[in-house]
Amino acid sequence: MFRICRSSLRIPLVFLLLPAFTLSDFFNGGSSNTVEETEWFDLSYPLDEDTVFFPGQMYEQFNLTQDIKGFNQTSSGNFPFWYATFSFCMSEHGGTHVDAPYHFNKLGWKLGEIPLKRMVDVPATIIDVERDVFVLKHPDEFALEVKHVLEHEAKFGQILTGSVILVRTGLSGAAADWLVRERHIYGIGIDAPGLDIGNNKGNPVAHIVTLGAQVYNIENVANLDYLIKKTRKQTPFGGTLSNCNLRLFVLPSRLSGTGGPARVLAHCKPGFASTGVPAMPLNPNQFGQF
Ligand SMILES: [Zn+2]
Repeated sequence: MFRICRSSLRIPLVFLLLPAFTLSDFFNGGSSNTVEETEWFDLSYPLDEDTVFFPGQMYEQFNLTQDIKGFNQTSSGNFPFWYATFSFCMSEHGGTHVDAPYHFNKLGWKLGEIPLKRMVDVPATIIDVERDVFVLKHPDEFALEVKHVLEHEAKFGQILTGSVILVRTGLSGAAADWLVRERHIYGIGIDAPGLDIGNNKGNPVAHIVTLGAQVYNIENVANLDYLIKKTRKQTPFGGTLSNCNLRLFVLPSRLSGTGGPARVLAHCKPGFASTGVPAMPLNPNQFGQF
């Protein structure tokens, strides 16, 4: 039988060298990357002339045209009032947008048919493999694999059912399939214009897997690097911890098409890891003496 022997517990030397170190110091010491309970993160890009579009669509540019702008008179001519109205034109797959399952799945939900419970206040986690990608000579050939997901879970806890996974590089079909089957995710978001690996040679296998299983994609997600900085902290021992229970609000318009622009917001409650598994207590007194 496995037993913990108290007398054999060893206190890491670094704690002895840091007599004033407490867990609350750890989470609150660097005010620049502590998380406030009320803090919201906007993960969407503005729609303007710089908006990025996936190639191959009819309107690969965001066009905003002014219909009327100025002061008008009431019919009696006595009360001037401001009146402005614009028109806009764009393809569905531009800027921060959702790919509806119907995009690659004839029987899949169109954008306005995705159930709200799959988009509003859902758990989220960011799988960040940036270090692995940029050491490569051809970073566009990197694929996020199942092993990277397992490494992420070893650090931050198991991905919750119904999560949205946020990634910073393309997935392999095998990784997408594993997340769909083994973790029953609701969606995957990426900070690039497409979910597949950069150099996918026209083989959109990750799209086929996720959308085929009614799992929506979010493309061109903004500010993931900032969100990581704000919700994770390096430990004095070289590890990383999350002090954030990350929740996502994915809010596309109610179009009946293959996708469309979306406002994507994240909210972070301190005290728990992104998967809901307690990472470290914010207030050590709450959990007894450290
Ligand atoms: Zn798309």
